[in-house]
Amino acid sequence: MRPLQMVDTKTQYQKIKKEVDAAVIGVLESSQFIGGKVVNDFAQHLATYNGVKHVIPCANGTDALQIAMMALDLQPGDEIISASFTYIATVEAAAILKVKPVFVEVDKQTFCLDAEAIEKAITPKTKAIVPVHLYGHAAEMEKIMAIANKHNLYVIEDNAQAIGCDYTFSDGTVKKTGGIGHIGTTSFYPSKNLGAYGDGGAIFTNDDALADKLRKIAAHGQSKRYYHDLVGCNSRLDAIQAAILDIKLNHLDEYIAARRKAADFYDKAFVNHPKVTVPYRAAYSKHVFHQYTLVLEGVDRDALSAFLAERGIPSMIYYPVPCHKQQMFEAFGGSSYNLEITDWLTERVISLPIHTELDEEQQNFIVENVLEFINK
Ligand SMILES: *Cc1c(COP(=O)(O)O)cnc(C)c1O
Repeated sequence: MRPLQMVDTKTQYQKIKKEVDAAVIGVLESSQFIGGKVVNDFAQHLATYNGVKHVIPCANGTDALQIAMMALDLQPGDEIISASFTYIATVEAAAILKVKPVFVEVDKQTFCLDAEAIEKAITPKTKAIVPVHLYGHAAEMEKIMAIANKHNLYVIEDNAQAIGCDYTFSDGTVKKTGGIGHIGTTSFYPSKNLGAYGDGGAIFTNDDALADKLRKIAAHGQSKRYYHDLVGCNSRLDAIQAAILDIKLNHLDEYIAARRKAADFYDKAFVNHPKVTVPYRAAYSKHVFHQYTLVLEGVDRDALSAFLAERGIPSMIYYPVPCHKQQMFEAFGGSSYNLEITDWLTERVISLPIHTELDEEQQNFIVENVLEFINK
């Protein structure tokens, strides 16, 4: 059996090595390392794939969020509403601009923002809602957009974990996540579903004026060379990463299918077990399984994790400390929150290896060992 990893980018690379190597050498030979045709072509292809008008590439998913908030003119003292049950970057992007992250509960089943909780947290200072499509399952975008429209708020979708996820509206319209809110952001961190071989990120919008502004902010606020209209930053996707991503984009749907197949396999093994809850799949969201995350009941999670590790099976806790309990957010009143569902989930979730290269032998081994431990 091949050794188990949370994500196997090496085997995945071996399968597309020829194409990727040629593309990288192409960039080296062109010596167009920053910007240029390769980056623009990739942005265009990704826009088509995601069904959005504009894709603005940038350096990483955290920058993408920060640039989005800057483009919406969020000011110190403004508030955004987001989840505490997320990766730190979602809300750190606000804090760095001295915008207050207001944490609300997630839904116990989807792990994504609870739409009802959002409305209760709106104040006169609220400027935006930042839903996270956690683990590859879409947040309830139809409800979130309705709340945003009613209260005149912006929506920034943190789509770092859900690229390629289809969201179905009640009238049957299907849109890809990241292209539903006013702005969507994503990350090409190597372990993400569309992963580069280094850092990368992108910002999505259908709004022409916002696209211009986002593009400017990512490039030192520059309108034309050496003319700077507004304060921006320096956030670029380099051409080598763009060339690699352009190839991997052609495989994204097949990668997602492989992840779903692996998730189906796990589901089958665990679905009726009284001590675990398998990932929920809401009818509106076509899960892309960035993570396969179980909720444990009456299982010693640390002991399970140690038991698996001893047998060469990695597992991860995403995330062991919710954002509102991070010291970083104490200045924003983090410890004053009482988020029971967030805390409850934080104590019970465990993610098993899931990626495009898992085979049945590996999955059988993982399943057998998880069952052996939880049946004890
Ligand atoms: C990975 C991730 C980010 C940040 O992306 P980077 O490219 O690492 O900066 C933001 N939000 C979520 C939910 C993520 O998973």
